[in-house]
Amino acid sequence: MAEIRKIVIANRGEIALRILRACKAMGIQTVAVHSEADRELKHVKLADESICIGPANAIESYLNIPAIISAAEITDASAIHPGYGFLSENADFAEQIEKSGFIFIGPKADSIRNMGDKISAISFMKKSGVPCVPGSGAPLTEDEHINHAIAKKIGYPVLIKASGGGGGRGMRVVYQESHLTNAIALTKTESLQSFNSDIVYMEKYLEKPRHIEFQVLADGQGNAIHLGERDCSMQRRHQKVIEEASAPNIDEATRNRIGKIVTDACNKMQYRGVGTFEFLYENGEFYFIEMNTRLQVEHPVTEMTTGIDLVRAQIDIASGKPLTIRQKDIKFTGHAIECRINAEDPENFLPCPGTISLYHSPGGPGIRMDTHMYSSYRVPTHYDSMIGKIIAHGENRKTAIARMLQALDEIIIDGIKTNIPLHRDILSDQIFQEASFNIHYLEKKLALK
Ligand code: ADP
Repeated sequence: MAEIRKIVIANRGEIALRILRACKAMGIQTVAVHSEADRELKHVKLADESICIGPANAIESYLNIPAIISAAEITDASAIHPGYGFLSENADFAEQIEKSGFIFIGPKADSIRNMGDKISAISFMKKSGVPCVPGSGAPLTEDEHINHAIAKKIGYPVLIKASGGGGGRGMRVVYQESHLTNAIALTKTESLQSFNSDIVYMEKYLEKPRHIEFQVLADGQGNAIHLGERDCSMQRRHQKVIEEASAPNIDEATRNRIGKIVTDACNKMQYRGVGTFEFLYENGEFYFIEMNTRLQVEHPVTEMTTGIDLVRAQIDIASGKPLTIRQKDIKFTGHAIECRINAEDPENFLPCPGTISLYHSPGGPGIRMDTHMYSSYRVPTHYDSMIGKIIAHGENRKTAIARMLQALDEIIIDGIKTNIPLHRDILSDQIFQEASFNIHYLEKKLALK
C-alpha cells in the first residue's frame, strides 16, 4: 500500500471541486493545475497549491500530459486524479504517470485501452457472458458484399459506430440497404477526423430502448461490487441531460442478476477503480454498449442512494487498499435525480458563456448542489457548457421529483442563460413522471415545440 499525501487535480469546474472536497475530508493535500482562463475557479482558490499549466486552449493545458506530470514533480505530489473528460480515459496518460513514479487514480492503463476501444470491449464482454447488442463484433472492411450481408443478418435499421468514439459522436443510423455503403464511408471519415481512427463497426439500432448503466467498484484484487443502476434515458444528441438512481421499474432480482454479471466481468479483467457498464434496455433485455473506466458526471445519484463516497473510494483503491465493503453491505435508500445545468440558450441550445451577476443556491432536505459557480464568476468560452448539477434525493421518485422542482424554482443564476427552463419542463412532463420514456423521448418532445 502507498500513502497518498498530496493529489494533483487534473481537471476543472465542478468535478475539480468535488475531488478537492473529498481530499480535504481525507486530510490529503491538493494541487490545482489550471489554464490561464481558469485562475478564478473556486477549487483553484481553495487548493493548497495551484499551478498554471498553459493557455486557455485545452490542448495546451488540460490535455498537456508533460505539463501535468511536471506539476506533480514540482509539488512533490503522490497521485494524479483525472476527473472525467479530458485525459481521464487516456491510457497513455495513465501509463506515463505510473512510469514517472506517481499513482494514477483510476484503472490500469491496459483496462482503459481495452475498454476505450469499443470493439475490443464488446468482444471481452461477450466472452465474459455480458449480453451485447447484436452486431458485427469486428471492424467493418471495405467489402460491400460482406457489409450488406452483416446488415441483413442483424436486420435494419443498423447503427454504424466509431470504435474509438465518445461524447455521443461518431454514430450513424442506416434505415435501408441503399444507404449502407455511403453511411459507412461517412462515419469512417468523421471518425478519422474526430478520433484519429477510421475503425467502425455495426450494431443493431434499437428503436425504443432506455439507457441503463451499472456502477461498479473494484479493487483489482478480486473484490468487485456493484452499486446498482442509473437510468440516463433523457438525452439530447446522445448526451445525457437528466440521470436517476435507481432506474424506474427495475426490480431487485434483475438488479442482482445484471450486477453479478458485471462484477464477474470486473474480476475477470482484474479491474481496479470505479467503472460504469452502459446498457440499452429494451423489452426486458439488457444489451451492453460500452464501459466507462472513470468517474461519471452522474455519480452523485448513486452516492445519494448508497451513501458511498465514490471519490474517496477511488482514492482508497488507488492507494492499494482492498475493498472491505461487500455486496451484502450495500443498501439502496430512496431515489435520486440529477439535472445537469448548462450555460446555454434553452431555445437553441447554443452555449451561453458570460459573467454570472448573481448566484443563489437551492437547498433544503435531500438537495445537493455540485457546482463551482459563484456570483461574479465568468463562464469561459473554451470548455464544456456544464456549470453545475442539482441532485435531489427523496424516499421515493415522487418526492425526489417534487424536491427537484422546488430546487429549480429556488435557484437563481443571473447574467447568463441556462437550461433550467428545460429541466422544469421535463420534470413537469407526464411521461417523465410516469417513467414511460425511452432514449428518443426528449428529442421528440423538443421537436414538437
Ligand atoms: P458514447 O461513447 O459516444 O457515449 P455510446 O455507445 O455510449 O456512445 O452511446 C451513446 C448513446 O447513443 C446511448 O446512450 C444511446 O442513446 C445511443 N446508442 C448507442 N448505441 C445504440 C444502439 N445500438 N441503438 C440505439 N441507440 C444507441
